[in-house]
Formats: sequence, structure tokens, C-alpha cells
Amino acid sequence: MNGYMDKASKYYLPSYENISKPRKGNGQLFFKNGKWCFSFAITFELKNEVSSEEKEVGVDRGLKYIAVAGDKEVGKYIHFSGKHIGHIRRKYSRLRRIFMKNKNMKALKRLENKEQRIIQYWNHVISKEIVRFAKKQGASIIKIEDLKSIRSMKKFWKRSDRNINSWAFFDLEEKLTYKAQLAELEVVKVNPFKTSQECSNCGNVVKKNRRGSLYTCSCGYKKDADVNASFVISTRPSNEEKAITAT
Ligand SMILES: [Zn+2]
Repeated sequence: MNGYMDKASKYYLPSYENISKPRKGNGQLFFKNGKWCFSFAITFELKNEVSSEEKEVGVDRGLKYIAVAGDKEVGKYIHFSGKHIGHIRRKYSRLRRIFMKNKNMKALKRLENKEQRIIQYWNHVISKEIVRFAKKQGASIIKIEDLKSIRSMKKFWKRSDRNINSWAFFDLEEKLTYKAQLAELEVVKVNPFKTSQECSNCGNVVKKNRRGSLYTCSCGYKKDADVNASFVISTRPSNEEKAITAT
């Protein structure tokens, strides 16, 4: 046997893939019921079952919704509107521009600290709820977009708000990762390329499918655009998996 299994053989079963380190034991030739028989023992190890049914929840981050967590399998999601802190952020944005213009760095710093504390509080609440949602859905993995290239987010925001907005993103990511670990969930990063243009139902990538806050596909699928994005994110392979296949 030598650890090799012939896939062309009619005795081959896919479940044999889980067998590792097979070893042939002692053989025995004997005569039984008028026939010569040969028997031998085989010992082997069973590989840990590769669970292909790990459930994944996708999280889309944005401004309209600070975060949307979606379970594509059952079509459930939770979202956290940015509205309730939107006015606070707009006020800060206005002040920031004034302080920047006047080069009042001290006031600017104070403003940022205050805003950061507010954002931290909300990110704390949101990440806790996302973890609770993932647990409730029976998920073991939370997928988020790999946004290390700020460039991919730049276009959405006014220049003066860019720093605080990207800071808010990463703060949520940090809190989510930390809380997920405590709940024995894994946070995995995926490629963010065109997640908002892809249809979570048929996989088509069409820019004009996204109109405002609605995603409408020619396959008949219609969904809130951010919910659709969270579903798409949940189905993307992790960036690490991809790196392994590439080598
Ligand atoms: Zn579609």
C-alpha cells in the first residue's frame, strides 16, 4: 500500500482520503470453505475531519452603516446605522476644517481626542453585537475586508476627515478581533476588490447594479447594497488561503 491509493480502482472511496500513514500488518494464508484466502491487517490514522461546513459571517464597514454583519446562508443580518453619530461627526468635521485653516493644532488635537473617545465607545458596542450575532448564527469565522490600503477607502471621504475615518475603521477591526478571540471565533481578512459591485446570489460583478443604497442584479436578486456586500465578503476566501494556493 505504501500510503498510495489508486483513484482509478473501483474499490476506491473518497473517504479513503482521510486515511493517513497506512501500514500493512502480518499476512496469513489459510484454507476456508474450500477456498484459499489471504488476510492481512492494516493499521492507519484518520486525519482530522476537514470541516467544510464552517459557518462564516461577513462584515461590511462603511459610513451609512458603520457595520453590517450578514449570514448569507439564512439571509439574516444586523446593521448599525451611522446616522445617530453622523451629526456628531459632521460637527467635528466642520470644526476640524476651521481649526486646520487657522492652524490651531492644540484645539485640533483636543477635538480629535474627544471624537476618538466617542468612536471607541460605539465601536465597543458594535463589535460586541457582531460577535453576539455570529455566535447566535452558529458561525466560527467572521470575515472582514482587508483594508490595509487606505487608498481603497480614500475616494469616499473628504480629505480632512480621512485620518479619523480610517482610524475608526481600524479601531473597530481591533475591537472586533479581540472580542471574537474571547468568544473563540476567528476573524479572517478577505480581498476587498469590488465587494460592493458583486452579486451575492450569482457572482456577477456589475458596477451599475449598485444604485445608491440598493443592489439590483439581472438575475433577479435585489437587496440593500451593504447587506449584499456583507454576504459577498462572507463567501470570499481568506487572503491567507489565497497566498498558500499561490505558492
Ligand atoms: Zn445576480
